[in-house]
Amino acid sequence: ASQTGRIVKALSGYYYVKPLDASSIEEPIQCRARGIFKKRGESPLVGDVVEFEETENGEGAVNRIMPRSSELIRPPVANVDLAVLVFSVTEPALNLQLLDKFLVHIEHAGIEAVLCLSKQDLAVDSEDAETARSAMNDVLRIYEPIGYQVLVTSSRQGEGTAALSERLQGHLAVFAGQSGVGKSSLLNALVPGLTLETNAISNRLGRGKHTTRHVELIDIGGGYVADTPGFSQLDFAELGIEELGSCFREMRELSSSCKFRGCTHIHEPECAVLAALERGEIAPSRHSNYVLFMAEMKEKKRRY
Ligand code: GDP
Ligand code: ZN
Repeated sequence: ASQTGRIVKALSGYYYVKPLDASSIEEPIQCRARGIFKKRGESPLVGDVVEFEETENGEGAVNRIMPRSSELIRPPVANVDLAVLVFSVTEPALNLQLLDKFLVHIEHAGIEAVLCLSKQDLAVDSEDAETARSAMNDVLRIYEPIGYQVLVTSSRQGEGTAALSERLQGHLAVFAGQSGVGKSSLLNALVPGLTLETNAISNRLGRGKHTTRHVELIDIGGGYVADTPGFSQLDFAELGIEELGSCFREMRELSSSCKFRGCTHIHEPECAVLAALERGEIAPSRHSNYVLFMAEMKEKKRRY
């Protein structure tokens, strides 16, 4: 009989499928994909919801892939609906440009984002506590008013991890952030029994840790997290230059009030975005990163 399940792992031609009603500790069923997918040039992805049936040999066969709500290219995961963007308050220093770049791609993909400010303990007690505190305040001041949730965490002190765990409920989430910001440590704190290798300095063969590993979904009981801390970048479908403005949500809302249709919000007269910037209602760093990304996209032949 046909069942519905989620692919939680793909390895050596096998797909590991968990029935949708299975408990979090249940072992997934090892399945092959039907030849029909190959013929159509389709292939199942981790994260896919599929119809499958159990075959005689104790294995299963994937018969159908349900339509995807999103598709990440790198790491290759389907149906991600929440991105946790991890930035440490210091070590490495907060990089607002990178943060805005992540947000552009996430807005474009239409998935939710949560900003996680990690290593909060370093804002209390460390040599750069002051810098760390100001980085923390910047993020709260810039991003909360435009509707991004910001969670402050410290894996070292168990701070904020329960709130993060709760936020992940009902989602298929992926973590992203520069290497060394504490993604593995957070995942380890969230998932009892998980022991991802931490400390990004272990850089064998010049590659970051994890980057060559396959993707696996971790069942956190009521939600899934992709086990991909080594992917510091998320690659979605490419973005057209004309779409950039709509990926900055506070500008998107204003752009219908600009005088010119197709206003780039850089030099046009009677631009609602520039007026809001002037009034201090748009963070200068957000607008300057927008201008920078626009220039980078022009450089790269209009794709991003
Ligand atoms: P990843 O590369 O993003 O997966 O980061 P890791 O989890 O490997 O952490 C990088 C380094 O930061 C390690 O040396 C961790 O011990 C340290 N670290 C992680 N979380 C915290 C934290 O909450 N507080 C402090 N002070 N250090 C942390
Ligand atoms: Zn404008």
